[in-house]
Amino acid sequence: MASQLQKDMQMLTSKAHAGRKAGGSEGPNVSAQYIHQRFEQLEYQPFYQSFEFKTGFFSTAKGHNVIATLPCTVAPCEANIVITAHYDHLGGQPSSYYAGANDNASGTSTLLLLAQSLKQVNRRHTVTFVATDAEEKGLYGAKHFVNELEVNKQTILNINLDMLAPNKRNRLYVLHSKQTKFAVELLKKQPSESLRVKIVNSRYKMQRLMDNPRIDWHKASDHYAFAKENIPYLYFGIGEDKNHHTKRDTLESLDFSRFQLVVNFINNFMVGLLDTPLEATN
Ligand SMILES: [Zn+2]
Repeated sequence: MASQLQKDMQMLTSKAHAGRKAGGSEGPNVSAQYIHQRFEQLEYQPFYQSFEFKTGFFSTAKGHNVIATLPCTVAPCEANIVITAHYDHLGGQPSSYYAGANDNASGTSTLLLLAQSLKQVNRRHTVTFVATDAEEKGLYGAKHFVNELEVNKQTILNINLDMLAPNKRNRLYVLHSKQTKFAVELLKKQPSESLRVKIVNSRYKMQRLMDNPRIDWHKASDHYAFAKENIPYLYFGIGEDKNHHTKRDTLESLDFSRFQLVVNFINNFMVGLLDTPLEATN
């Protein structure tokens, strides 16, 4: 039987979702509704956070983040950790669409898996799950979420998941900002099996490791919206993918067993992180 992770990947990349394009005219799209319903199945109380974004000089469209919160189990909750993954992709026609399996059905499915697994564990911190919309258009969902954050709810960390199925190099990059010491110390101790985890503290180091100076990974995904507001982040991603933003980014073209290694790694890390007190920070 297919795992829930596989099922979520299959659904999000299916013809019915037709590439998960942001900005349709009829409210939350099939993908947003699917994620909302999955959170409900897991006994969360999810909600849509709707926003407008620019599509041209004079035109706007609507996007819809899907948000669910998991309170801490050890009162008082110490901090709020926000896990993000963008669910939107490039769209297309049902006959020929951009499936966006790696980008970013992989991160979205992992977010849903975490929503299930982290319910079972000891938590010193609150977790907010945010499936963001309109990332591909300019990180609009994440920017809106950060703008709406309540000042009194202390968000200490963003964990951003974007493209998690490794290629043959079998690498997972974790780019982190400053003030993430307590998380990075734990990350370094985390067993990774055959996965080659590269923990990187600057965009330049990441460019060198990838032999490609063109992409600024600090700005490449939703974590940048948090960084701009001085919220520390950890960004998990496999780096370059030759199928990125092509119609070849399909479920068939990714290696599910390597993806599973990444999911296990992130899951184990998150379980540990939620049990790590903040005083271990600096
Ligand atoms: Zn992406």
